[in-house]
Amino acid sequence: ALELINIHKTFGDVEVLKGISLKAYDGDVISILGSSGSGKSTFLRCINLLENPTQGQMIFNGSELDLVRGDVDLVPNNMKQLTQMRQKIGFVFQSFNLWPHMTILQNIVEGPLHVLKRPKHEVMAYAEHLLEKVGIAEKKHMYPNQLSGGQQQRVAIARTLAMDPQVILFDEPTSALDPELVGEVLGVMRNLADEGRTMLIVTHEMNFAREVSSDVVFLHQGKVEEKGTPEEVFGSPKSERCKAFISSVF
Ligand code: ATP
Ligand code: MG
Repeated sequence: ALELINIHKTFGDVEVLKGISLKAYDGDVISILGSSGSGKSTFLRCINLLENPTQGQMIFNGSELDLVRGDVDLVPNNMKQLTQMRQKIGFVFQSFNLWPHMTILQNIVEGPLHVLKRPKHEVMAYAEHLLEKVGIAEKKHMYPNQLSGGQQQRVAIARTLAMDPQVILFDEPTSALDPELVGEVLGVMRNLADEGRTMLIVTHEMNFAREVSSDVVFLHQGKVEEKGTPEEVFGSPKSERCKAFISSVF
């Protein structure tokens, strides 16, 4: 399980996250909704310390991440612990972030070979399996810029899976895609959810969130404004802001 407790983040004198708590049990698929600027990306980035929180605690598989007060923010105190945790928490970005000078296959095997130091034959076989799974086995010797956005994002997901993450964070994985390519990426994510993967997904794809999530969290100005099952949050939102947000997108 992954637990975030009272996460705050301040940029300059602006408090962007005002105490967010969230617990993801293994197998949970949690969608994070909210209007632009509500703090969704900042929260996700705080989870694997791409952004240092200003206050808060994080507990992963029962161990609290060791953070100490820096100049302003909390900073990791134990790099070994942070590295181990990061290897278990995958991140899929809006902009794919594939390595442009490497082929698709190289993009996927890089981490398992050079970071996890797994045996090559094993890594290669698993990479082939993952490429099949995301439906791009035939592109493995191409470079990222030779693929469509949807294909690149599926490679990015395969690359994350290659590290055997326990939790995968997605920050608007389809919002940089042409509309006709969104479905193929959501299809891959839906399969991951069906497999019981633990995922935290920032998305504007409401139908997807409604169908796939175990829980939905609605953020407003850096706070959890509403939280519940998809039936609760989409079907009968309690807060006026959440109501307005839901009705603006459906
Ligand atoms: P969107 O839906 O547009 O992606 P979001 O919910 O992901 O929005 P964030 O990117 O988390 O929102 O930003 C929340 C607030 O924090 C915004 O007001 C943003 O301007 C501010 N912010 C984010 N990153 C920084 C930064 N590095 N420095 C200063 N302010 C920042
Ligand atoms: Mg964002």
